[in-house]
Amino acid sequence: MELVELEELLNEVRQTFKSGKTRSFSWRKRQLEGILEFLHDKEQDIFSALKQDLGKHKVEAFRDEVGVLIKSVNYALSNLKKWMASQKVRMPWAFFPSSAEVLPEPLGVVLIFSSWNFPIGLALEPLIGAISAGNVMVLKTAELAPASSDLIANVLPLYLDNKAIKIIQGGQFVGEQLLDCKWDKIFFTGSERVGRIVMTKAAKHLTPVVLELGGKCPTIVDTLSNLRDLKVAVRRIVGGKWGPCCGQACIGVDYLLVEDKFAPILIDLLKTTIKRFYIESDNISRIVNKQHFQRLCDLLNESSVRDSIAFGGSSDYETLKVEPTILVNPPLESLLMTKEIFGPLLPIITVKKIEDSIEFISERPKPLAIYAFTKNEHLKQRIIAETSSGSITFNDTMVQYACDALPFGGVGLSGFGKYHGKFSFDAFSHGKAVLRRSFLIEFVCRYPPWNDMKLHF
Ligand code: NAD
Repeated sequence: MELVELEELLNEVRQTFKSGKTRSFSWRKRQLEGILEFLHDKEQDIFSALKQDLGKHKVEAFRDEVGVLIKSVNYALSNLKKWMASQKVRMPWAFFPSSAEVLPEPLGVVLIFSSWNFPIGLALEPLIGAISAGNVMVLKTAELAPASSDLIANVLPLYLDNKAIKIIQGGQFVGEQLLDCKWDKIFFTGSERVGRIVMTKAAKHLTPVVLELGGKCPTIVDTLSNLRDLKVAVRRIVGGKWGPCCGQACIGVDYLLVEDKFAPILIDLLKTTIKRFYIESDNISRIVNKQHFQRLCDLLNESSVRDSIAFGGSSDYETLKVEPTILVNPPLESLLMTKEIFGPLLPIITVKKIEDSIEFISERPKPLAIYAFTKNEHLKQRIIAETSSGSITFNDTMVQYACDALPFGGVGLSGFGKYHGKFSFDAFSHGKAVLRRSFLIEFVCRYPPWNDMKLHF
């Protein structure tokens, strides 16, 4: 993109913001409705773009992207008035007479980077927040999902105010150009490596950032004696590992922690369920591109790791498919156990006592999500108290993403800042303190000249 072009585009959105039109309820509502119309009208185009980019089945595409977005827009539409309203604050007697409120105001011109694994969902979800809060914005789509990126850049604008919402395609170079500009907020979804670049560049203008990053999400599986509970747990683990985009999900299950004696039972059930869900049906997405495919093969081909394969392990360069793979006790210092996997490989780490998994997790970087399957309330309490993560979900995986009432975001190396539902509105707003005083009562003791009488007044 030419620098002049970028400057023009930014000037246009700045002017739009200055005009004040994006602050009105009706503007925000109209844009949100535009997103909803896009999702309804172009549902089939979205499905085929996601199929092209990632081999996603349309049911998966609806469950993880279109459906979640429809829910999020509707939630924003039904709460927008309430979110926009100022919050009255009770003032202490010393301020009498006065009134005060916290007034949410839009930040201005915001920049959003989305990610390729949920290229529609992760582009539009923050957009919903930025619109709800009354900002103007530039969205950079994910270049590794070109069909979805094209659709967002070429078709979504037909449903939105193009003077306030700009969509730009491009990769690293465009990303760098955008980061050199001055923004009122940057919302970034992606890797820790680029997250650091974003934050460094944002520091130049003291621009606040939200970093939605990744990491390894551990899943503790306690010994479940009830067969039905165990089957439910296994379905949810398999669904949370291979279901969302073939494991290419920031909150996907990264590895399991399980007691030695329980591991064989769990592995048997995992294998049966994987076969039923993905091998017989082939309802599994593919790896996004050759580089990521090679990255996963490298994780698997470390010699010490290959010996730990208990299921799967094959891959096909032509189709970019990596077989769902289970590995038991791969070396903890291997790349597989030190890097985020972001793919269909599932290491299982066995521990003597399930409580040992707490220390295992807390010794490592803070995850975006922790999952734990257990009925043991004491264990649950200990996991909550002794670990830190963006979220903890007991007895399920992934579902926290779709809950508007819960904040979504990381902590430590998994990122910071939160969004979804009202948290998205807040992420793109400034809560301005407004205090109204009257001329009626005046405490002159607050002014010099000082004397001892005024000391403790
Ligand atoms: P990435 O960090 O390489 O790229 C993200 C974005 O940054 C892309 O739009 C890219 O064009 C841009 N970019 C790349 N290099 C840049 C540079 N030098 N300057 C400016 N912009 C640049 O993304 P990735 O590694 O392919 O994404 C996977 C990571 O994202 C995983 O770690 C995953 O966990 C994380 N992720 C997090 C979430 C979340 O919601 N927390 C969601 C999806 C993915």
